[in-house]
Parts: sequence; structure tokens; C-alpha cells
Amino acid sequence: MQDIQHLGVYTSGGDAPGMNACLRAVVRAGLDNDLEVTGIRRGYEGMIDGDLVELDRRSVSNIMQSGGTVLKSARSEKFRTEEGRAKAAEQLRKNGIDALVAIGGDGTFRGASKLHQEHEFPVIGAPGTIDNDLFGTDATIGYDTALNTAIENIDRIRDTADAHNRLFLVEVMGRDAGFIALNCGIGGGAELILIPETITEMEMVKKRILSHMSAQRRSTIVVVAEGDELGGARGIEQALRDDSDFGDIDLRSTILGHTQRGGAPSASDRVLASRLGVGCVESLLDGHSDVMVGVVNGETKLTPLRNVYNRRKSIDYDLLKLTQILS
Ligand code: ATP
Repeated sequence: MQDIQHLGVYTSGGDAPGMNACLRAVVRAGLDNDLEVTGIRRGYEGMIDGDLVELDRRSVSNIMQSGGTVLKSARSEKFRTEEGRAKAAEQLRKNGIDALVAIGGDGTFRGASKLHQEHEFPVIGAPGTIDNDLFGTDATIGYDTALNTAIENIDRIRDTADAHNRLFLVEVMGRDAGFIALNCGIGGGAELILIPETITEMEMVKKRILSHMSAQRRSTIVVVAEGDELGGARGIEQALRDDSDFGDIDLRSTILGHTQRGGAPSASDRVLASRLGVGCVESLLDGHSDVMVGVVNGETKLTPLRNVYNRRKSIDYDLLKLTQILS
């Protein structure tokens, strides 16, 4: 059993709605267990610089409903070096912090794991990323909110696309994973969904669009993940514009971009974040380290950090088949 008295907590990598709810849960669970809790601002960059803030119950009041992260986030090149991590460990020890809760994505966990291995620091992770691409949890904090934002935007685009019989290419976030694209495509009634996990052939894309537009004579929406190999919405738009078969088609592309990151977290993200935050503190106190707390099939589950970043979480291929039936 590790003797923990002073917790450090930080948010790192891309921000995600619900990170604040998770922070609140970590702080309140920590205080409930008579621990001191310190917030580390700007992720690993702030850890190296000693950018710390003491957190009490009131300091996390009224943050549950806000997007972004009150602790700020940052990418840190220094932390990728052994020297940088040694400096971070020294800062933590100097300030009496003896265990860490990391809220972030796979990069954040790679860093946390190294800190654990090189400096024997107890660390535990809460999955916070809108991409939902982390093995060991059914959903990550922020994913549900981002998905709903994307669907809301697709609904709006559908109105204007319908009014003009237009073809819209809607690009959503997901450099390596198609969770947002697949699910917002289904929820938004997209005619075609293009994701990084599958091979996308331009000829198939053209055929499907032409067949839909000539049969329905209505709007067509193609949802494409930013990491799809055809170059996202812009890449597909260019290929279609270069094809004379598409000469008469009114075609637009929209990149939803960072709108998907912001906004108040959904109810589901708030509950997940609260559950995972408390789970992190309890698991650390139970002696666990170098693991992530996730929720799988409704149960809280611990997964070694190395499995979280080394294994790939699969999309649901049955869902992908659904689009062909539904469009
Ligand atoms: P998101 O999925 O939203 O991008 P993330 O946690 O994966 O979140 P990254 O930018 O990949 O975001 O990682 C956050 C930080 O973690 C990096 O800026 C870096 O400081 C640290 N980090 C990432 N990979 C490593 C690594 N291999 N070794 C040490 N530190 C790392």
C-alpha cells in the first residue's frame, strides 16, 4: 500500500468538455480522504515550471458545467526528454506531492507512465479526450459532448443543404479514429461516412454520391473524419471539382473543427467524469498505479497505461454497415 498524503492533479493534451467535472471529483474525493490536493497548471509544462495552485472544496465550485479546463492544458516538448521529466519529479517532491492524477489522452499517459517508471511516482489516469480512441473504456470524457455538437451542426447543415439540393462534405475531428464521424454520421443521417479505419476509394465515393443524388434529387451529406486518407473534406472536394460528372452539382465543404471541443459538457460526460475522478482517487489509495480508470459495460475497470496507449480500440463495424442500409 502506498502512503499518499498529497495529490497532484493536471489536465494535459487536447482539452475536452468534462475535464473540469473530473477535476472537481478528484479534488472532492481527495479532500474526503483527508488528502491535500494541488492543481498543476498547463500540464507537464507547468509541472516542470512548478506552476501549482492549492485546491480546496470551494475552488472547484461551479466549474462542473464549463467546457475547457480551469487548470489549462499545454503540450510540453521538455517533458518528452529524461531531463525534463527529472525536473518535473524534482518539482513535485519539493512541493510535497506524492501521487498524481493525469486527465488526458494517450500522449499524456505515455508521459505519466515514464514518470512512474523512471521516478517511482504513483500515477493514475482518467481518460479525457474528445476522440474516444482510448483502449480500456467505452467512452472518454468529452466524447459524448463533441458528438452531440457535431450532430447539432449536421442538423443545421441539413436545413440549408435541403433548401438548395446541395452536396455537403462535413469534416469532423478524428485524426486516427473515426468514432465521432461514424456516430455523428449515423445520428445526423449522413448518406456516406468516411473514416480512417477503412480504406476509402475515390471511385466508390463518387459512385455513391452520384447514385444518391440522381435517385433522391435531394441534399446529400457526406461525413468525413479529418484523418481519412483522401485528405478530409477539402481533399474530396477538390477531387469532385476536377471530375466533369460533378460539374452540375452544387457542392460545399464545411470543417467543424474546434467547435467540437468547446461548450458545456453533456449530462453523460459530467456523470462519467465524476465517476472516473472519484475512481482515480480511490484506486490510488487502494495501491494501484500506472493504470487508467475506465468504464466498460457499466463497470469501473482498471487498465495498465501501457495497454491503453499500445492497443487500438476498435470501432463498431456493425454500425458502419448500418449506414448502407439507412442512407
Ligand atoms: P489528445 O488525444 O487530446 O491529443 P494527448 O494526451 O494524447 O491528448 P499529446 O499532445 O499527445 O495529447 O500529449 C500531451 C503531452 O504528453 C505532450 O505534450 C508531452 O508533454 C507528453 N507526452 C506525449 N507523448 C510522450 C512520450 N512518448 N513521452 C513523454 N511524454 C510524452
